[in-house]
Amino acid sequence: MKRYFSPIVLSLLLPCMPEAAAQDGATAISGKTPITMLYDTRFEAHDPGPEHPEQARRVSAIVERLQHHESLQPFLRWPTFAAATRADLLRVHSAAYLDLLNAEQARVPAGTHRPLSTGDTVISQHSLAVATLASGAGMAGIDAVMSQPSPLAFALVRPPGHHATRDRGMGFCLTNHIAVAARYAQQRYAIQRILIVDIDVHHGNGTQEIFEADNSVFYFSAHQHPLYPGSGRPSEQGVGAGLGYTMNVDVPPGSNEQVLLHALDQQLVPAMQQFRPQLILVSAGLDAHAGDRLGALQYSDAGYGNIAIRIKQLADAYAQGRMLWMLEGGYVPVQNANAVEAILTALLR
Ligand SMILES: [Zn+2]
Repeated sequence: MKRYFSPIVLSLLLPCMPEAAAQDGATAISGKTPITMLYDTRFEAHDPGPEHPEQARRVSAIVERLQHHESLQPFLRWPTFAAATRADLLRVHSAAYLDLLNAEQARVPAGTHRPLSTGDTVISQHSLAVATLASGAGMAGIDAVMSQPSPLAFALVRPPGHHATRDRGMGFCLTNHIAVAARYAQQRYAIQRILIVDIDVHHGNGTQEIFEADNSVFYFSAHQHPLYPGSGRPSEQGVGAGLGYTMNVDVPPGSNEQVLLHALDQQLVPAMQQFRPQLILVSAGLDAHAGDRLGALQYSDAGYGNIAIRIKQLADAYAQGRMLWMLEGGYVPVQNANAVEAILTALLR
């Protein structure tokens, strides 16, 4: 199978786990379940330029917070993982789009960056390798949550993925990591019903498009409206066999997390009584946080904890607690660290 990492790129991007994180030794203590964290310092090699909001620091700030966190760190395990293969990506993306990505990536000179032709996404010399590694992190997260006793995983990846459609990169996204993870779970573990909860401030148009005709993946998104990319109206509920398996909620600018919590309780919970997901994936965009550079919502750190508790209740009720969270947006590094700290603290309760 063809891998996007060429031997040259691999030699340039030697695996480098964060200090004190390479070991894979967290164990259940005091009845708490360890959480599998997926991160690799090679994610820093994607460089969209100094003025771009999607910076490596967004993610490294989270890792630094966790590594020095007295109460969380003992419960976190940090395994290594491989990049997704072309075959893995073909479960989600078209061959023509993957060929376009390869061709445009090959034309980026070292030390430079340029726009991807499909729209509002900047690539540098190693961007496709980094995106493919991020998709691989999602697959490793699936492996982790499907092997008890560690049903919880959080992939701290970049660039984000939920705007990437079958045929098009956009919105800083090259490959759709959570969609790749969902299809991998279906194929590798014969999971029949997957819920994707998207809490990013932006609508995950790519994820919706990939699954909108599919009744095996239920896509829920609560996002600021109006905002990029403009899709995700409540009237968009899926098509064909997938009609009724997409749920969109508009959140007005200035709102705090109460709109999302209300939608989870009043709309998603009743829908899941019918759907009964066997696995839950979370597009954990953190750009709905108060003060984010790209959004105008007002979610608090405590709010992210409450959101995590609500989603965990669904996972415990239907999915044997199995949840994979994957970072999407979030453009203020310290706020990303605060939100992930709140989420993990809630999940470990
Ligand atoms: Zn976003």
